[in-house]
Amino acid sequence: MNKETLTLIVDHIREIAPGVRHIGFRRQDGKTLVVKPGQFITLLLPSEGEEVVRRNYSIATIPASSDPEVEIDLIEIALTYVNHGFASERLFSIKTGETLDMMGPSGRLLFFHEHKPPRRLILVATGTGVSPYRAMLPQLARFLTEDNTREIVLLFGIRTPHHVLYHDDFVTFAQQNQRFSFHCCYSREMPSNPSVCDHAGYVQTFLQTFPLEAAEDIVYLCGNPAMVDEAYTHLKACQFSIHTVRREKYLSAR
Ligand SMILES: Cc1cc2nc3c(=O)[nH]c(=O)nc-3n(C[C@H](O)[C@H](O)[C@H](O)COP(=O)(O)OP(=O)(O)OC[C@H]3O[C@@H](n4cnc5c(N)ncnc54)[C@H](O)[C@@H]3O)c2cc1C
Repeated sequence: MNKETLTLIVDHIREIAPGVRHIGFRRQDGKTLVVKPGQFITLLLPSEGEEVVRRNYSIATIPASSDPEVEIDLIEIALTYVNHGFASERLFSIKTGETLDMMGPSGRLLFFHEHKPPRRLILVATGTGVSPYRAMLPQLARFLTEDNTREIVLLFGIRTPHHVLYHDDFVTFAQQNQRFSFHCCYSREMPSNPSVCDHAGYVQTFLQTFPLEAAEDIVYLCGNPAMVDEAYTHLKACQFSIHTVRREKYLSAR
């Protein structure tokens, strides 16, 4: 991780779903931030005592290029409100123009460069766990255009149809990239007119019915820790290994 502390200014705030806020920051010094899509920032939140509380948030910004390392001037995150959560209370009351300190970026949920690309990528997320995939969209487009046998499947776990985060970005991506498909799994409420890509229940339950190919697929899991653990248990039973599954669990830093 980059240990330097940077100060961010809140540029804009949007409610993107019930209990989910999108916040765009810029660096106070006016510089860009160098990131690898898929990484997160660590916000440093002052508390009443001396201690600074650290919380990690995936960078959701769609970069301008498909390079493995990019410069961004707008640092976007999506944040789920957690009842009485320390950071949630602070970040759901923050206003445009206020400042916050951060460290990073860091994280290893990156689009792979070092290994032979798989034929198919399966991206599994719950809620704001979709943010790193949004940041990877240019790399995902490149992955598809480099070889016309490749496919990408996004399996998105959410509560209701109102919780499909960054819907327009993924729908536009699907329209522009025919070998990208997008399934939503609703744990509480289905759409009134469901399509063949809408499913009732948890995304990890849907994954168990999804035809997997351990020799051809790489799976990414991001978001709720229980989802990541249950999905990984299933993937191991299907002959996947730590080399073919990438995981990021959304836990509070200690
Ligand atoms: C690498 C990484 C990336 C992350 N990226 C994101 C992101 O992009 N967006 C995002 O919203 N979060 C993200 N998180 C989670 C985030 O860092 C915080 O843990 C989260 O915002 C809750 O912090 P809090 O201070 O509000 O709650 P806390 O004060 O830490 O928790 C309050 C209570 O709520 C429980 N709790 C904590 N999180 C949840 C939850 N998600 N659902 C239900 N109960 C919970 C705790 O166990 C505790 O009892 C990420 C975590 C990691 C490790």
